[in-house]
Amino acid sequence: MDLNLSSPRSNASSNGGEQEEYVRVLIIGSGPAGLSAALYAARADLDPIVLTGMELGGQVSLTFAVENYPGFPEGIGGMELVDLFQKQAQRFGARIEFDLAAEVDFSGRPFRVKTQNGKQYLAESVIISTGASAVHLNVPGETEFTGRGVSYCATCDGWFFKDKEVLVVGGGDSAVEESLFLTRYADNVTIVHRRDELRAGAILAERAKSNPKINFFWNTVVKEISGNGAVKTVTLQDTKTGEERDHQVDGVFIFIGHSPNTGLFKGQLDMDKNGYLVVDNKMQTNIPGVYAAGEVADPYFRQVITSAGMGAAAAIQANHFLEENPL
Ligand code: NAP
Repeated sequence: MDLNLSSPRSNASSNGGEQEEYVRVLIIGSGPAGLSAALYAARADLDPIVLTGMELGGQVSLTFAVENYPGFPEGIGGMELVDLFQKQAQRFGARIEFDLAAEVDFSGRPFRVKTQNGKQYLAESVIISTGASAVHLNVPGETEFTGRGVSYCATCDGWFFKDKEVLVVGGGDSAVEESLFLTRYADNVTIVHRRDELRAGAILAERAKSNPKINFFWNTVVKEISGNGAVKTVTLQDTKTGEERDHQVDGVFIFIGHSPNTGLFKGQLDMDKNGYLVVDNKMQTNIPGVYAAGEVADPYFRQVITSAGMGAAAAIQANHFLEENPL
């Protein structure tokens, strides 16, 4: 491949039908980490390009309200916050591309990233902020009824359950927060948790416990989801006695955690036993010039503000790296 690297800034060229572009900082993923990295890289005059992935804004764009991001004392809608992040990054020159990274090659610089739309980026540095995705229960009926009563997003699908009965699986902040949101629509929301104590923080837990529309099935797991075209029944099991029973519902919302979106980087970047990218305290992966930020590299905090902070740090570090390692 004939690469003209003499004038590296945002060079677009065609190579046998394949579109190629040279970029100083390529950001893969457009959640709070990616858009914050874009803001900082743009302000450092690095002309970053952001590949959005499937969902501009990532998980937070599906969140009804964000109440713990400083600067918004009354809270702010998830999509609205993403929109502000995006506008701020674009104001300083970040470019947002609605495309997905499909293949990466970090074996040498410039790093190569091929996208689903058939483009190849040659990047002097890369910031990975691909986030995490909802974990599935892996019970019979779950896949079959996804979109027909089974959902992983209350903000997206809650409206369909107006005056209906829904079950929420999980005991963490997501399960409780989304249950509270679902009470806007559903008649009754039952939280099914495998233990007898919520993992969710005290404020959310208290709000759920005092909400008359929310009740709990403790020490209970879902064994099967069934229906006829749409969800009708869940088979539940008591974890203490092993007893099974059927329960009639219209919807099942599953919030049992997330797993990092790192499949693309297997064999190239170091990961922990759960698949999270391993970074040092400067957001650097095992490959100099490749950084990771946000939930893809953070199994602990997973907050909008911590992801945004990691994104900013990654971009600051990428800037130092590019100054010290010119191509
Ligand atoms: P999480 O904290 O990991 O909670 C997952 C829940 O699902 C736990 O209660 C867990 O049970 C349960 N679970 C896991 N696997 C299961 C299975 N196979 N079957 C049944 N239940 C299962 O995940 P999350 O709620 O998505 O939260 C992720 C992170 O985001 C957390 O750090 C959370 O604090 C943060 N978050 C914060 C907010 C906020 O601050 N407003 C909102 C949403 C999320 P056990 O408890 O028994 O392990």
